[in-house]
Amino acid sequence: MSDKRAALVTGASRGIGRAVALRLARDGYLVGINYNGSEERALEVKAEIEASGGSAMLLRCDVSDFDACGEMIKRFAEEAGSIDVLVNNAGITRDGLLVSMSSDDFDRVININLKGAFNCMRFAAKYMMKQRYGRIVSISSVSGIMGNAGQANYSASKAGIIGLTKSAARELAGRGITANAVAPGFVVSDMTDALSDKVKEAVTAQIPKKRFGTPEEIASAVSFLASEEASYITGQVLAVDGGMSM
Ligand code: NAP
Repeated sequence: MSDKRAALVTGASRGIGRAVALRLARDGYLVGINYNGSEERALEVKAEIEASGGSAMLLRCDVSDFDACGEMIKRFAEEAGSIDVLVNNAGITRDGLLVSMSSDDFDRVININLKGAFNCMRFAAKYMMKQRYGRIVSISSVSGIMGNAGQANYSASKAGIIGLTKSAARELAGRGITANAVAPGFVVSDMTDALSDKVKEAVTAQIPKKRFGTPEEIASAVSFLASEEASYITGQVLAVDGGMSM
């Protein structure tokens, strides 16, 4: 049990989630580091937080598993003493053209990116309602706003995050809980490392700032929406994309 506010970040072993976990630890939260496959990387994030005087807890769970999410949220809320912030960040891509996309690739992306966010929100909101305080920040994407050729599954999952966020915001507003989404553009991470140099160049040409974002730039926006100061902002989608989607 801790007297610190507590924040759970899904997919915090790598990339944007890792940067968000480090930032929230710096902001003074006890941080729950959720991961699925990358245990070594998650341990490194925990060690980095503790080396700077912060507190963290490791939580292995596949966010697409409804019951496992329920157990993870319960464990975190009980051991940390509360769950004040939930950041739904875990996500994958399985890109392919619509006409050749497999049913499995569609389902897997929806189940992790969208249903995973629902699963965690569904259980975390119960604790937040009792506390009469909570901040839910979910990571959408410019692909969910603009669509993207080759990403029908991913764009649908990220557009779904926006509808989920707005409905949650309406349901939970009276209980001191806000729900917002951050929609990153292209950010340097393992996910975008997979793109060819040709695709990276074509994408960069469409970004007014003419570069990819950093995970830390996404973490700053999440940190603000997760703060007490953002108390009158709910149901919003904040694009952090170098101007790409305006
Ligand atoms: P990344 O480097 O590939 O990291 C993905 C993270 O999600 C990892 O920590 C991974 O954990 C976790 N994850 C994947 N499947 C999971 C599951 N079933 N259960 C729990 N955790 C799971 O990706 P990223 O670029 O940081 O992206 C993070 C979020 O930002 C995603 O939602 C992504 O869609 C979104 N986003 C990224 C960009 C971009 O340009 N990078 C742009 C817009 C939006 P393990 O490795 O431990 O399994």
